Amino acid sequence: MAHPAGIGSVKPDGWAYQRSPMIVYWELTNACGLACRHCRATAMPDPAPGELTTAEAIALLDDITGFADQAAGEALPHVVMTGGDPLRRADLAELIAAAQSRGIGVSLAPAVTPLLTRERIRWMKDIGIQAISLSLDGSDAARHDGVRMVPGTFDATLEALDTAAEFGLPVQVNTLVTATTAGDLPAIHELLARHTLQQWSLFFLISIGRGTELTELAPGEAERVLIWAQGLSRTSPFRVKTTEAMHYRRLGAAALLRAGKSKEEVEAHPMARAFGIRDGNGIVFVSNTGDVTPSGFLPLAVGNVRESSLVSLYRDDPTMRSLRDPRMFKGRCGACEYNDWCGGSRARAYAWTGDVLESDPLCPYQPKGAR
Ligand code: SF4
Repeated sequence: MAHPAGIGSVKPDGWAYQRSPMIVYWELTNACGLACRHCRATAMPDPAPGELTTAEAIALLDDITGFADQAAGEALPHVVMTGGDPLRRADLAELIAAAQSRGIGVSLAPAVTPLLTRERIRWMKDIGIQAISLSLDGSDAARHDGVRMVPGTFDATLEALDTAAEFGLPVQVNTLVTATTAGDLPAIHELLARHTLQQWSLFFLISIGRGTELTELAPGEAERVLIWAQGLSRTSPFRVKTTEAMHYRRLGAAALLRAGKSKEEVEAHPMARAFGIRDGNGIVFVSNTGDVTPSGFLPLAVGNVRESSLVSLYRDDPTMRSLRDPRMFKGRCGACEYNDWCGGSRARAYAWTGDVLESDPLCPYQPKGAR
């Protein structure tokens, strides 16, 4: 799964996550021509039975308009159409047009397969797709294709990146961070710096789906990567962010506080636009069959859009509500003075302990309140 450019972290003023997510990640299909070693969706060559029909998908878009009162100037969530490979949905153009006609902005997370042609990328720009995401997991073909499991994907990814830049289509590049890929991150950054992109997201592996075949970093190693990324973010030609490593924000905020900034000044800093966004708080996920989960990496369905309104499930489900309240968190995340800005990966807490409210095991921080 991917998180397109500039939309996973920009918190407009006054956005209230208890009322509306900023982003709905919508897995249009789990069909995909790749078989990535970490795939959350455990993607298949052909669509699984039970995918939402076109009519059901359009009903979901109608439902999403209920998140905001557009007449009163409220903004609707952005929809990221992901997969699997969203290009495998025959009605993709119809769904994009239906979303846009309802005032819903759309980004795409296509897989890099022969379907992602130069013409298709130009089409995305022409129809008003706001951004796309591409995955790059190695600094050379052997490393990247070893994760994506299809030879030639490395070269095709860089070609797609350059084509998107040529047409002025913003790109977020996602890179998987595991015990195997962490040492390659500086070389990947060096490679990306020779291309044009808006944002680089370091996705810290969570062991779900096919991701259980790979190894997560140990907390101390993850901390070193995050400190390195914080330093890099000051000089990188593109924005550097993380996915499912929310404590990146703790490091950034702590550096500002050490430099003498007040809490108010930290909250006014551009980095604060990402504060608070985590599984179920600011984001929500809809699977190809309509199951609603707090994120794509937290496989705890709170309902299905075939039976319930996504708006009601997001706002009112008790699990979803608890994910938005740091006072409910347990252990170190519960005691942490940063838990409103960070809150940890609820998905990783669930993967490791079975409890969405437990501490994020990837974060080694010892909160003042827990000492
Ligand atoms: S202890 Fe939890 S809330 Fe605090 S920085 Fe670590 S992950 Fe974030």
